[in-house]
Amino acid sequence: MGVLFGTNGVRGTINEGLTADIVLRLSAAVGSTLGPGLVSVSGDARMGREMFQRAAVAGLLSTGCSVVDIGPAPTPVLQYITPRLGCVAGIMVTASHNPAQYNGIKVLGHDGIEVDRNIETEIEAVFTSRRFRIATWRDIGEVIQERSAIRRYIEAIKGLVDTEAIRRRRLKVVVDGANSVGALVTPTLLRELGCKVVSINSQLDGHFPGREPEPIPQNLETLRACVRAVGADLGVAHDGDADRATFVDETGQVLWGDQSFAIVASRKLKPGSLLITPVSSGRLIEDVVNNASARIEWTKVGSVVVSHRIVQTGADLGGEENGGVFYPRHQPVRDGPMTVALIAEIMSLENRTLSGIVAELPRYYSRKSKLVVPLDRREKTLEALMELTRGEKRVTIDGVKVIREEGWFLMRPSGTEPIWRCFAEGKQEQTAESLLSEAEHLVRTASGT
Ligand code: MG
Repeated sequence: MGVLFGTNGVRGTINEGLTADIVLRLSAAVGSTLGPGLVSVSGDARMGREMFQRAAVAGLLSTGCSVVDIGPAPTPVLQYITPRLGCVAGIMVTASHNPAQYNGIKVLGHDGIEVDRNIETEIEAVFTSRRFRIATWRDIGEVIQERSAIRRYIEAIKGLVDTEAIRRRRLKVVVDGANSVGALVTPTLLRELGCKVVSINSQLDGHFPGREPEPIPQNLETLRACVRAVGADLGVAHDGDADRATFVDETGQVLWGDQSFAIVASRKLKPGSLLITPVSSGRLIEDVVNNASARIEWTKVGSVVVSHRIVQTGADLGGEENGGVFYPRHQPVRDGPMTVALIAEIMSLENRTLSGIVAELPRYYSRKSKLVVPLDRREKTLEALMELTRGEKRVTIDGVKVIREEGWFLMRPSGTEPIWRCFAEGKQEQTAESLLSEAEHLVRTASGT
């Protein structure tokens, strides 16, 4: 992990960890590394968007790049439009699901996918050394305003689902836009698909007055209540930049991430299809893949790795346990509104309730925890864990995942913090708990903490 980039771009508290000065230099480093050429720019509804976006634009222009400003939009909209405008890179001002005081930068390559570790390292080297490729006065770039990106993106999604089937079903959907840019896309998309839409938290407001931006059950009480109150078929909650969607069924139950991913996977995978997913994904996904006679490839944890692997392998689908679904026929990135359209399509084609569709999925229980382990013991701990789990069926691509008949557990170090995360899953709650204890015990033994 470098000095700047985390799992999804650069993040920091506004005007403390992340300042306009840092964004200016970072963007000049992006322009120096990926330019010259056209660079797309957008941001979500967070505080500091104007400040950071202007700093980003200034940094890019200084290196001779020109900028196409698509206005506030979800990350997947910027990702969709970046290759289609012939851009060499993209800069998204967002801190995704982080609390309100955070903002950040996601750097996209010419294909709209967040850049990989190697490019991040190159950008960081320019940032740190300040060896920017500054343009002469004749070659300063210019800014173009472009407001068709959201429209083009919505049309593309409509072209990939059975719009007639969805129109016939006339679903009632409550959309919780998290007071951010998901509200600019998903309500419109669903209305154009013939759904009756009730929007909540739909005014853009960087104070996030409606709820915390992370679409997890404890933040979705209002959505759950609203779904029940208006008798909706479906509730949808986005995170701050709408690359994720969390679903609520007609009874107000929140689907955990693996479930929506599994519902899509079970309908879209064919015999021989390839699915890419991080090692943190659960047994449910393995079941779906096996039932479809499809194939699974595990990656390290992180959406960027999944995206790049989808492109390299030509995979049919990708997904994460947090509800991220990658549908390469649209684009090989995590995409909230695309996932919403797929779920609406499945409910419409099968003319079933979401709770009914969920009920047929096998049920697993999961547990997770984190343990403090000093950063300088990370390598030693990993070596010791490899030794301690010798002879087990395991995946060691990112930490150590031990796979047993009754369930599995994963022990992996955080990229940036002095923390090891343990995940466990089993067919019974008790199994999940005992597997989690075993994982914690192993990490303590291995790290000597
Ligand atoms: Mg996000």
